[in-house]
Amino acid sequence: MNAPRLTSLLLAGVLCLSLGPVALAKSKSKDSSSKSSPKSSAPKSSAKPSATPSPTPNQDWQVIKVGPRDYLSVDNIAKFYGLLGNVDSTGKSVVLNNGRNQLQVTLESREAIVNGVRNWLCFPVIAHDNKFLVSRIDLAKTIEPQLRPQMIQRSGKIQTVVLDPGHGGFDKGAASTFGNEKTYTLDVARQLRPMLQAKGFKVVMTRETDVFIPLEVRARIANATKDSIFVSIHFNATGSNPAATGFEIFSLTPRGAPSTNDESLALHFVNMQAGSPVEAQSMELSTVVYHSMCGHFLEEFDRGIKRARFAVLRRANIPSILVEGGFLSETGDARRISDTDWRKQLAESICVGVEGYRALVEKKQRPMLVAEYRAQAAGEITVVDLASPPSRLDQPASTPGSNPPFIPVVNTVAPSPTARPTAPPSVNPTPEADEPEP
Ligand SMILES: [Zn+2]
Repeated sequence: MNAPRLTSLLLAGVLCLSLGPVALAKSKSKDSSSKSSPKSSAPKSSAKPSATPSPTPNQDWQVIKVGPRDYLSVDNIAKFYGLLGNVDSTGKSVVLNNGRNQLQVTLESREAIVNGVRNWLCFPVIAHDNKFLVSRIDLAKTIEPQLRPQMIQRSGKIQTVVLDPGHGGFDKGAASTFGNEKTYTLDVARQLRPMLQAKGFKVVMTRETDVFIPLEVRARIANATKDSIFVSIHFNATGSNPAATGFEIFSLTPRGAPSTNDESLALHFVNMQAGSPVEAQSMELSTVVYHSMCGHFLEEFDRGIKRARFAVLRRANIPSILVEGGFLSETGDARRISDTDWRKQLAESICVGVEGYRALVEKKQRPMLVAEYRAQAAGEITVVDLASPPSRLDQPASTPGSNPPFIPVVNTVAPSPTARPTAPPSVNPTPEADEPEP
C-alpha cells in the first residue's frame, strides 16, 4: 500500500503548498495564464502560510486556464475541503489530510493517492505560478466523488447486482499454467451470487456456463435490469512485464478525457467521446469496491482506480465497474487465483464493497476505507462507526481543539466541467469507440 505518512507534516500544522524554486524552474511556461473567478467574492488563492485554514460554506473556486484546460490550485482544493498539508521533501508531491480525507498529488504525474489507494488522474498535475495545479476534470470527476461521496446525485435503491464473468466459450481470456481466465471469472461470480443474495440483493448473471456472450449482449442484460449495478469480473495478464501483479478497477472514462492507458495527452482526446449520466455513481462504486478489495488482501499490489472505455462500461447505463483480480501472467498471483478459497475471499471482498455502496446510496453511510478494513482485520478496532469514522486514520489523536476543520456539510458544489464549457477542440472529433477488452 502506498498510504502517505503524514503525521509529521500535519503536526507541523502549516499550509504551505507553493513550489520551491527548484520545482518551479522545471515548469515550462506553456499557458495562456488567464485566471478567472466565477464570483467576485472568491477568496484569492495564495500560498500564504496559515495555521488554521477555515473553509467557509461559500468559498469559491479560482479557475486557472493553462493551454486548453481548466485547473484549480492545490491550495484552493485544500481550503475548500478543509485539508491541511505540505510539500514533501522531494518538492514534487503535496500531501493533504484532515483526518477524514487524504489526498496526495505529484507534479507532472497522473498518479494520486486518495484516501490510501492509488488513483489515476486524467491529466498530470502541473506547476504554474509557483503552485501545483490539478485539472478541473480530475477534481470534479475523480477527487470530489471520493472526498464527498455523500454529494453524489442518486435516486432509487440498489436491488439487483448484474454479475458479468468475463470471457467464456471460445474466448478463454488470459491463461496461466493453472487455468483460464474464463473459468476463474465464472467461479468468482458463482461464489459471489449467494453472498449477495444473503445480503438481500437479487443477482442476474450475464452467463452461468462456459459460453461466449458478446459484449453488447452483456450490456443489454445490464440495461434491462432496473435499480441495479453492473460488476464485470476479469483477471489480468501482460506479456511486457511478467512481474506485474495486483488489483486494479475500472469505471468509464469521463467525457473529454483520456483513459488511464492512453499515453498521449493529445488534443484529440478532448472531444465529444460519450460520458455517462451515471459516471459519478460508477466512480463511487469503483472506489468503494476497490477499498474493500485492497483492505481484504494485504499481499495484493494496489495498481489503482483507473478509467477506460471498455464496451461493457461504455454501453451500460447503470453504475458499472470492471474488476481486475490479479495477474495470470505472474506466478504468485496465478497460483493464488487458481485457489478456490482465495477466489471465495475475492468474492467476499467484492460483496462487502457492493454492500458498502448500497449503504452509501440508500443511507448516506460513509463507505469504509482501506485503512479501516485493515485495522478491523488486525483487531485494532472491533466496531466501525461508519456514520462517524475515526477522526484520524493514520496518526494518534491530537489534543482537543487542534483538529483541522472537517468538511462542511453544506457547501458550494465542486466545479463541473460542463458548468463552464471550454473552447471546442480544433481537431475533428474521433468517433465513439470501445477500447479493447481486458
Ligand atoms: Zn478479461
